[in-house]
Amino acid sequence: MTKKVSVGNIFIGGGESVKIQTMSDVKTTCVDKIVEQIEEVSFLGCDLFRVAVKNFDDAKAIKQIKNRTKMPIVADIHFDYKLGIEAINNGVDKIRINPGNIGADANLEALAKVIKDNNVAVRVGSNTGSIEKEYLEKYGKSAAALAESALKKVSLLERHGVDNIVISAKASSASLTAQTYRYLSQKTDYPLHLGVTEAGTLENGVVKSSVAMGALLLDGIGDTIRVSLTAPIAEEVITAKRILRAVGLDKNYAEVISCPTCGRTAWDLQSLVKEVEAFTAKYDKPFKIAVMGCVVNGPGEAKDCDIGIAGGDGKCVIFKKGEVYKTLAFGEHKQEFLSEIEKLYNEKHN
Ligand code: SF4
Repeated sequence: MTKKVSVGNIFIGGGESVKIQTMSDVKTTCVDKIVEQIEEVSFLGCDLFRVAVKNFDDAKAIKQIKNRTKMPIVADIHFDYKLGIEAINNGVDKIRINPGNIGADANLEALAKVIKDNNVAVRVGSNTGSIEKEYLEKYGKSAAALAESALKKVSLLERHGVDNIVISAKASSASLTAQTYRYLSQKTDYPLHLGVTEAGTLENGVVKSSVAMGALLLDGIGDTIRVSLTAPIAEEVITAKRILRAVGLDKNYAEVISCPTCGRTAWDLQSLVKEVEAFTAKYDKPFKIAVMGCVVNGPGEAKDCDIGIAGGDGKCVIFKKGEVYKTLAFGEHKQEFLSEIEKLYNEKHN
């Protein structure tokens, strides 16, 4: 098990639930917009929110943001250690830095003191663009180079007594990302921040991120995740949530399964599946629903579902745990199915 690191009012690692992160795509000084984004992603299940700190105005804006939200805030700092100190003095909960690009060791020492005095967490790491030269020469562009490079940065912080650390080591390829985190998990007890860097657009980035993070999370590796997408930040959080659900780390929701349809399908189940998903999006306790194309195979294939519907021959059947419960004519099936879902969910959980 990894070490437990506190970040504001939450913990990362040490057997805690995997935390979801995203990063703002607007200037940190646009406080109203940032707070609006935090509220939106918080509703979707985000746990931590990162902002870019490029100058002192950004660092100072953190105080106003912190006054308006309980969500832990992470400051993304490059090059200037004084911005890190300013962000911490303005109440930030975690900083992301590269100890290798903030100049002399005295700078790191000064920053480390403020980090320790305020019990702030730090994310350090590497990505394929920031591998230390010595490791690039020794291992080439590989998992070992990425991981050792991240660990070197960790050791720089440890030398100054900082150990409230989370590590990342990201590549833009799913396989290299997975190999690197597997390597890291063998070598360190610090919590791991998973991510595929520059994953791309919504369509391709979701697949790449799901492959890499899904493989790792299924092996028990990863304590916090960020899905980096060239898309609105809400999509990052929605995808992260879906990944956690797909790997079974979040069971508190209504899972809707549906068959792919085939030549036996004689009704429009695509639109019904969407409606059922939307109708049950508010459910926050385990519940499983099936929407199946035919009566021949549907109920049997979806035996483990709390409730399901299957169509055929001008009518639909509603089934519970694979047993037919009610037969309905097309037309009345949708409303009836939704109301049976609601009834059963309430019976199960209230
Ligand atoms: S449940 Fe029926 S309609 Fe759906 S894929 Fe299976 S056989 Fe085809």
